[in-house]
This record gives sequence, C-alpha cells and structure tokens, in this order.
Amino acid sequence: MYLTTLKLKKDKEISIYRKHPWIFSGAFFDIPKTIEDGETVRVLSYDDKFLAIGHYQGGGSIAVRILTYKDIPIDQNFWNDTISNAVLYRKNLGLLDDAHTNTYRLQHGEGDGIPGLIIDIYNDLAVIQCHSIGVHRCYNQIAEAILSCYKSKIDSIYIRSKDTLPEIYGKKIVDTFYSGSKEETIILENSVKFKINIITGQKTGFFLDQRENRALLNYFSKDKTVLNCFCYTGGFSIYALMAGATKVDSVDSSQKAMDLLEENLLLNTFAGDHQSYCANVLHFLTDDTIPDYDIVIVDPPAFAKSIHKRHNAVLAYKRLNTLALRKVKNGGFLCTFSCSQVVGTQLFYDTIVSAGIEAGKKVRVVRSLSQGPDHPINLFHPEGHYLKGLMLYVED
Ligand code: SAH
Repeated sequence: MYLTTLKLKKDKEISIYRKHPWIFSGAFFDIPKTIEDGETVRVLSYDDKFLAIGHYQGGGSIAVRILTYKDIPIDQNFWNDTISNAVLYRKNLGLLDDAHTNTYRLQHGEGDGIPGLIIDIYNDLAVIQCHSIGVHRCYNQIAEAILSCYKSKIDSIYIRSKDTLPEIYGKKIVDTFYSGSKEETIILENSVKFKINIITGQKTGFFLDQRENRALLNYFSKDKTVLNCFCYTGGFSIYALMAGATKVDSVDSSQKAMDLLEENLLLNTFAGDHQSYCANVLHFLTDDTIPDYDIVIVDPPAFAKSIHKRHNAVLAYKRLNTLALRKVKNGGFLCTFSCSQVVGTQLFYDTIVSAGIEAGKKVRVVRSLSQGPDHPINLFHPEGHYLKGLMLYVED
C-alpha cells in the first residue's frame, strides 16, 4: 500500500535512533499540504534511509507518533501481533488466569509501543480508548485482534474516545460498542469486588493503575482509622476495610462515584464502619471538627494537564498535602499521589518536602510508589512515568 513519505531534516534522526516514539513537526524537511490527520506515514532520514512508520497528526507539536521501526504494513497482522504481545507480557506478569484478579490494562500507549492506544480489560469487558486519530481509524482491526485473542472470554468491546481525541475529531464521533452491548460488570481485584460501568464511569471505568498501591493497605490498615481523599468508587476504602480498618471515611465531589461506592461496599464483606462524604476535599480537610486519622490517602485528578499549568499545579499539591499531613495522627501514614505527567518525580518529591515543612511535621519516606506493571514505562519514553506516589510516616 502506498504511504506518504516524510523526510527529516539533517541530524534530526538521533531521537529515532534512541527509540523515542514522538517526532516533532519542526524535525521534518517538508510536510506535504495534502497529508491528512491520521494517515500512516513512512519516515525517512535526510539521506533517504528508512527509519520508522507512524501516524501523522497536525495541529500540535508532535507530528508523528511511531508505531514501528520496521518497514512493515500496519494491517490486521500488525494489530494481531501487537495485541498478542501485550497479552504475553501480562501473562508473564501473572495477571492472566489469576484467581484473585480479572482486570488489568492491556495496552498502555507508548509503554506498550503504540502511542495513543489504551485498552482496559474489566473481567468480560474490554474498553478501547484512542488518544490519536490515527489509532482511532484502526479500531476495527484492534477490536478484531482482541476478539481473536480472547475468544468468548470477552463479552463486549466498547470504543470510548470522544473525550480523549483532539476536540475537532472527538465532537464528530459517538462512543459505541464494537461488539456486544454489556455496559456493567463486576471485577475482582486482589479478591476485592468492584462494579464497573464502562459507559458512565470516569476514564474507562476504573483506575487500574493503583492496584498495587491499594494492595499495600493490607499491611497497614488493621485496627486503623482511614481517610480516603478523592476516593472515586472506593478503591482504597474497600481494601482498607477488607484489611480490618475500624473506620474509613471516603471523600469525593462526584455523587455518581459515591453512588457506585455504596454498591461496592455491599459487594464485599467486612466489619469496620464506613462513611461517605460528597464534598470538596479541600473543604473537608480544613474542617476542624473532623478528627485526625491513622492513615490518610490523597489521590487527586491530574492538576496539570500541560506544562503551562505546572506552576499552579505545584502550588495546589503543596496546599493539599500540607492539609493532609496535618490530618495524620502522630505515628500515622500519608499515601500521596500525583498523576500529572508534567510534574516529574523530583518535582513531586520537592513539593511534598515543602508541604512537610509548612505542616511542621517530622516525616519519613516509607516507600516510593508508582503505577502498576500493566501500565509499563517504555525505557526510551520516560514521560510515560506519570503516576508518582510517596508513602510517608508522619510524627508531630
Ligand atoms: N483514588 C481513586 C481514583 C481517584 S480519581 C481510585 O483508587 O479509584 C480522582 C477523583 O477525584 C475523581 O473521582 C473525582 O471525582 C474526584 N475529585 C476531583 N476534584 C475533587 C475535589 N476538589 N474534591 C473531591 N473530589 C474531587
């Protein structure tokens, strides 16, 4: 099949030799006027050596997202190989055929070698979420590849890209089932049950990247009081209760999430008390009538979605964490996270240092936390390390 060829300027191939999957528009010699967003293109060096195949998308600083460094067609075989390879990786991690966990991320964008493609598996449901128009154009082949790998284990595949594609394309599409029509399921994550709605839930339905961090609570929650800030449908809350917490308070501003949390509480068996607060976390943390907790969890949405928002995001993380540190009892723990890609590990750490000083507490780092291994980081694309967390031991 004929593909448009894009040629790089002299010496611009270095990042491709270093296997970084993005090529910025300024690196190209000339971009033909006839090229369409989403087109699959062949990338050549200044001296006409083949370098890569990728998807073109104008309008932003990244012009090409690389799919492969081999000169091969992007056809059904390519997608079958991509999905089989992703499945094999999860199998080798022990995530397939696990009696305690039937949910995981199957494709994590650049981390799994396909920029712009997210696939989450929720028991018998799969959600494909595209972040580039090039990948969106391939969703039929991607869905077929999932069906041929999973066979009858997958009941329904939902394509949910309206909010993640660039707005000009997002507004032209509707989210839709590729196969089946089942929108809800119950997942098992480390033996904890959660109800998932893949149409109305946030992102693709659940925050799978926190699975291992939620499991950490098993070691620390017995006989403790826990505050879960930004609780969504109660992930950390229910783990803590299952691990023997005596009392868990969950705070989120979304009533829809809190409604699902109530259903999730009913799905699981535990003895401790639970209380939901549909509120702004910042207001909750500044309410002096609320007592301190043994464990506080802070997992906010990304405060900075772009580099321009980073400064304000850092100020917001500092304020939030200062308040959260003050809500921890002497000898308790704070687990705090940032999922802003543009706030790097060191900047997040420094922000927490500054919150620690402001809060006037003595603080030890118990563990550094990250996204689970089904959200892998491509070695050559450090930007993929978006979830940073710290577990802190806090004393007065
Ligand atoms: N920790 C959760 C995921 C959190 S996602 C889990 O393990 O599943 C972030 C959540 O923050 C969302 O549910 C969103 O509704 C909520 N949120 C955003 N801004 C908020 C605010 N100011 N106060 C309370 N909740 C907020």
